[in-house]
Amino acid sequence: MDYNELADLIFPNAKEIEYYETRYPERNLVEGAMVTRFAPSPTGFVHIGGLFGGIIDKKLAEQSNGVFILRIEDTDQKREIENGTAQIVNSLKDFGIEPDEGMISETEEKGNYGPYKQSQRKDIYQAYAKSLIKRGLAYPCFCTPEELEKIREKQEAAKIRPGYYGIWAKDRTLPIDEAVNKIKNGEKYIIRFKSQGREDRKIKHKDIIKGNIEFPENDQDIVIIKADGLPTYHFAHAVDDHLMRVTHVIRGDEWVSSIPLHLELFKALGFRPPKYAHTATIMKDENGSKRKISKRKDPEAAVSYYHEEGIPQEAVVEYLLNIANSNFEPWRRANKDADISEFELQLNKMSVSGAVFDMVKLLDVSKNVISKFTAEKIYNESLKWGQRYDKELEKMLTEDKEYAMRILNIERGNEKPRKDISKWSEIKHSIEYMYNDVFEKNTNYEFQKISDMNEIKTILKKYIEKYFDINDDKQTWFDKIKDLSEEMGYAREVKQYKQEPDKYKGHVGDISTVIRVALTGRCNTPDLYEIMQILGKETIVARINKICGG
Ligand code: GLU
Repeated sequence: MDYNELADLIFPNAKEIEYYETRYPERNLVEGAMVTRFAPSPTGFVHIGGLFGGIIDKKLAEQSNGVFILRIEDTDQKREIENGTAQIVNSLKDFGIEPDEGMISETEEKGNYGPYKQSQRKDIYQAYAKSLIKRGLAYPCFCTPEELEKIREKQEAAKIRPGYYGIWAKDRTLPIDEAVNKIKNGEKYIIRFKSQGREDRKIKHKDIIKGNIEFPENDQDIVIIKADGLPTYHFAHAVDDHLMRVTHVIRGDEWVSSIPLHLELFKALGFRPPKYAHTATIMKDENGSKRKISKRKDPEAAVSYYHEEGIPQEAVVEYLLNIANSNFEPWRRANKDADISEFELQLNKMSVSGAVFDMVKLLDVSKNVISKFTAEKIYNESLKWGQRYDKELEKMLTEDKEYAMRILNIERGNEKPRKDISKWSEIKHSIEYMYNDVFEKNTNYEFQKISDMNEIKTILKKYIEKYFDINDDKQTWFDKIKDLSEEMGYAREVKQYKQEPDKYKGHVGDISTVIRVALTGRCNTPDLYEIMQILGKETIVARINKICGG
């Protein structure tokens, strides 16, 4: 008996690996093109860190005329959730991330390097495992979980490294005939890699983000094919990233310590390894100390959160690029209106220690992003959000679309657009005073400096009787508020008031605030003239009369 016979006995139907090498040829891409992949497991919701990785993969492929692949790593079928792939595909789509190749729904895929779901690549992994067995670089292991547990206990008692390696790797030296007999007797087994590494030797590696790193060589005989015939992550990583001709593996830095193993696997399989970039985990600042964003504790860990809150996908993507690359912020400052696709992401400018996720900053980015949207886009997006999460908002927006559009257009589409909205869930609050049925319920007027109701009533009465004309242009409208100020003993200009504060009761700003609060309930709103133009004469008179008791 030799290795070939053992290999044939274990995988009688596996193809020669040459078949796959020809079936998945080198890609014919322009020089420098990056082939990247996002490779999540369908085991739960998409985490913000996953989205972060996906954005980076997509961006790098796009800007280099490469290929971005979405591969589903479903080899741990016990942990799989129903519709897990569709959930990933849709979550990414929500953020404008669609793969060039890979899964596009629960069951459909596109591209010539598939299948893109690992559970459907069993025959491929087995062919490569078989080739390793033939070369004496992999072997069947018959150890039961109890035996493995015993080994672990012994190692613990002796205070030595745990694992299946060296003298502890019992079946590593099992004679082929014995292995064959066991298989023929129906004993259960898995396939292990026969490591040629030595723990006392070091390997050096250059990671694109982390720079030069040094680790002891791998000497563990890791499992490559499990009892269910599916591969482990490590083995599938080597086979898939080779056959999909991936050039850059960008993944979370929890994998960096697997580098010695992965490089050894690539070597044993005769593959050229990809370039690796290990990204730092996104952190959260909690009372001054950093910790990982946690699925359990932080609602913002799930990407669905941004959807539910109504934070536009453009803002989330922009913010994530912000924390991905230190040169993003200066680029944005210099290119205020440029589309994000013009920004060139550089892997070597990634943060080495964990970037801190800051919700305040995200909302700030979002305000800027939304400020550049047209009223039409804001209308459509907030309506979509309202239809799903807020029926009242939906009603406001749809009962009179043109009216809603005029409101949303206040201070927009100009040089200095308004920047007071950071998410769709704020829209209702920001427009509700424009709706009589909502405003009528309002009893809270945020009057400011002038708070004496008699004074307020006098100001408003005078305004409506003597100065208000809905047909005035903006300049005339404001001049009249100045005239009213003067008549009431307030300075026409803030400057005048500051020079001689004793001479006046206040200034024009205090007067316009009274009008603003009377009409909207609030002391802070966008442009009052525009608001009044939209409210119209009748509503203005009615709202002022309500306060004056008339
Ligand atoms: N399925 C692995 C994970 O979700 C992928 C890691 C990788 O990108 O290689 O962690």
